[in-house]
Amino acid sequence: MSLRDRLAAEIAAGGPIGVAEFMTRCLHDPQDGYYATRPALGEAGDFVTAPLVSQMFGELVGVWLIEAWRGLGAPPRTILAEAGPGDGALMSDVLRAARLDPAFAAACEVWLVEASAPLRQAQGRRLGGAPRWADSLAGLPDDAPLLLVGNEFLDCLPARQFQRTAQGWAERVVGLDDAGALAFGLRPAALAGDAPVRTVIERSPAQAAFAAELAARIVRQGGAALLIDYGRAEPGCGDTLQALQRHRKVDPLASAGEADLTVHVDFPAVLAAAREAGASAALLTQAELLRRLGIEARAAALKTARPDRADAIDRQLQRLTAADQMGELFKAAAIWTEPAPPPAFEAP
Ligand code: SAH
Repeated sequence: MSLRDRLAAEIAAGGPIGVAEFMTRCLHDPQDGYYATRPALGEAGDFVTAPLVSQMFGELVGVWLIEAWRGLGAPPRTILAEAGPGDGALMSDVLRAARLDPAFAAACEVWLVEASAPLRQAQGRRLGGAPRWADSLAGLPDDAPLLLVGNEFLDCLPARQFQRTAQGWAERVVGLDDAGALAFGLRPAALAGDAPVRTVIERSPAQAAFAAELAARIVRQGGAALLIDYGRAEPGCGDTLQALQRHRKVDPLASAGEADLTVHVDFPAVLAAAREAGASAALLTQAELLRRLGIEARAAALKTARPDRADAIDRQLQRLTAADQMGELFKAAAIWTEPAPPPAFEAP
């Protein structure tokens, strides 16, 4: 029985489920969830991420990590963690860049926070014997400073959706239509604030909880984190639930478990949660982050080394930084403790 049919049977018996629970089931149902069974990253798969666009992305994140580590006073043991490492491409480029500073490379104990069994296997193949895995932040060691990166991780964490109706706020739920197929519906919800009828807002307690737990660890253990994702820089509204299969948007209800399912990250809520936990936090666009870390010089160096690949390298640079490509939609949030902000996040 497909996940769609199982969910329909459960909803027929137990009633509609919220969008957050629907996301969790589609992504992580042990039997049929997308990440549990068929995650497919890359050109031949369902979606492409920045580390798969270009090695420059991971190399510059590696430079950020080395500089952040030096800013911490070069602690001789450091937990280098990645949340949602996908096929391991980002960490593999980070570790190559880390060799620029052998003391940093030697200090790092590499940890991967990963829910997906097939992706853990891919990461193990890509990275060799070095990494250790945790199911969540709670599984990371807490006796050394923590440097954590996550690219397109927060967008997988479940969000609730609320819609304004003439009678007040309602939560968007997945129920059944007259033919017994999955269909969106609404149930009354207690939510403060007013908005024009039909306005949709999203709230992700899971994104905020992750940021709060991460920030609390950084306050206790020392360290810094860099979370890169697509999402909003200002509080906003709109339905951003999106299912991607073979690079195409598909109907989230028709493709349960067969497509990647994400929402735009609510960065204002992520930063607020980190600050509430006692850390400092700030946001840049991906283009600003990569430019400040020197992507233009890195591209020029790669083109000098490989003149035959100059056009491809220019295309990668554009894809990562151009305003009409990934440069502005994608944002980078840093979380750290005072006194010193991490690289690229110093006030200009
Ligand atoms: N960072 C990679 C992959 C992004 S896809 C890249 O940029 O290419 C999202 C990743 O997050 C996958 O590795 C997925 O298995 C993982 N993931 C999603 N939800 C998770 C959760 N709740 N806990 C741990 N890992 C999760």
